[in-house]
Amino acid sequence: MTAKLFRTSMAVAVSVMVLSIALFMGMLYQYFSDQMMTELESETWLVSHGVELDGMDYLNGLHTTSRVTWVAADGTVLYDNEADASTMENHADREEIREALTSETGTAQRFSSTLSEQTLYVTQRLSDGTVIRLASAQKTVGLLLISMIQPILIILVLSLLLSAVLASRLSKGLIKPILSLDLEHPEDCETYDELTPLLSRLKRQNDTIQQQMNLLKQRQTEFAALTDNMSEGFLLLDRQGHVLSHNSGALRLLGVEEPEGEVNVLVLNREEPFRQAVDEALSGKRSQQMLHLNGRYCKLLANPVLADGKPAGAVLVLLDVTEQEQRDELRREFTANVSHELKTPLTSISGIAEIMQSGMVKPEDIQSFAGDIYQEAQRLIALVEDIIRLSRLDEGAESLEREPVNLLSIAQDVARRLDSAAQKAGVTLKVMGLSVEVRGIPSVLDEMVYNLCDNAIKYNHPGGTVNVTVAPTDDGSAEVTVEDTGIGIPVEDQSRVFERFYRVDKSHSKEIGGTGLGLSIVKHGASLHGAQIHMDSQVGRGTSVQLLFPHHE
Ligand code: ADP
Repeated sequence: MTAKLFRTSMAVAVSVMVLSIALFMGMLYQYFSDQMMTELESETWLVSHGVELDGMDYLNGLHTTSRVTWVAADGTVLYDNEADASTMENHADREEIREALTSETGTAQRFSSTLSEQTLYVTQRLSDGTVIRLASAQKTVGLLLISMIQPILIILVLSLLLSAVLASRLSKGLIKPILSLDLEHPEDCETYDELTPLLSRLKRQNDTIQQQMNLLKQRQTEFAALTDNMSEGFLLLDRQGHVLSHNSGALRLLGVEEPEGEVNVLVLNREEPFRQAVDEALSGKRSQQMLHLNGRYCKLLANPVLADGKPAGAVLVLLDVTEQEQRDELRREFTANVSHELKTPLTSISGIAEIMQSGMVKPEDIQSFAGDIYQEAQRLIALVEDIIRLSRLDEGAESLEREPVNLLSIAQDVARRLDSAAQKAGVTLKVMGLSVEVRGIPSVLDEMVYNLCDNAIKYNHPGGTVNVTVAPTDDGSAEVTVEDTGIGIPVEDQSRVFERFYRVDKSHSKEIGGTGLGLSIVKHGASLHGAQIHMDSQVGRGTSVQLLFPHHE
């Protein structure tokens, strides 16, 4: 803009200068012409008087730069100081001669063939009727210009220099207030009045942009807060697979750090199923994969984002399905185990019944065979009962009504029910401690204590003891400990005995009558009540299982 202003100012200055010079030259020319005419007139007057007095002698002695011609009244040239008078044609028809003959003086201005120049003529009639004519070549504008070229050029160069300096200062001076405008705060600018509407508009636009930026920022914050609180992972990819947006859940599930700058999603995970899902989504196909990430199961849903029917990116959603997978696995195992456990006694019953049916059994043996059937049936009943208990805990035990339960009363009740079993096994069962209440589900708490005591009797030696202790703890909660002097559990099995159907000694389990579900019911019940289980056992010396209930207000 500065350059344009400079150029415009210079163009104006040069045009004005050229026009001024042209006008000046015109005026100068006019002035010189008038001056010449006046001089020629007065010289003509002088020469006329000289000729009046001395005639031809005067003319012969005259020294002048003008051309002097003496013409007779009939137009014959009598004298000419620049040409031979006798060879000159008759001048009677010349405009200035005719004028002098009629009105004493005359003037004319024309191109002279003799002088071959633009010429001024002045004539004066003498008393004898002859005419004196003086002529002088008139300088043309071109000639005048050429004679003045030097001063004009000097003036032109000086003026141009001056114009350039002034134009430069002017343009800079004009632009300076515009350059110093603070476009962030246009309302504070003091500048040309003509710019005020523009600045007001700018301020309005700035305000609108600011408002929209704030709104955008707020939306972004809300979006980030929402997605970061999601347990699911979320990744938004562009057409090339670069991560445009992600939440912290995605990074957590993929087990990676916050990426620096724009990265390709395959940098976050290079496993084949992940790569396959991303490729398919980016080529416009929905895809689903199961990933095994850092010991956890993740379901990856990859959906293409289409724009005008073409893939423009993809959305990846990661769901942690570890619990669900583990539950499914457990259920599969459980079903397989249950079928197996149910099949064993049923096969025995069926086998014995088949022998009896064939009539091969002696009547005195029938009682023993029936006893076997009875025992197998009892095992089946115990198993089914445990399965029912466990599935009751699995399905909605949380919704069962909780109430204050006295743990000592429960322990005493269990001991009473197990008294005959203990006697049969030759084991002494004792309940000790104080009356303590917890909030819980009475039937579940009863099953837990029952199973612990049942095990302590079953896996004991004749003459052994089982001590059940109920006591409040220092922090106001309660503990129940079932301690026996039985066979004990090897260290490597201690963590596994709480699994469903896990038994340490599988070969003896039939005669002992365990189902392998007792301790898993205890574990399930404990987690329902938020209780902890501590097991301490030594092979050949005995086992102690402690239930530690949390403190309830
Ligand atoms: P079961 O019905 O077979 O007793 P449990 O789940 O109650 O099933 O116990 C699992 C296994 O843990 C048992 O088979 C037994 O091997 C072992 N066990 C449980 N309690 C005791 C204990 N007090 N002493 C020794 N072993 C035990």
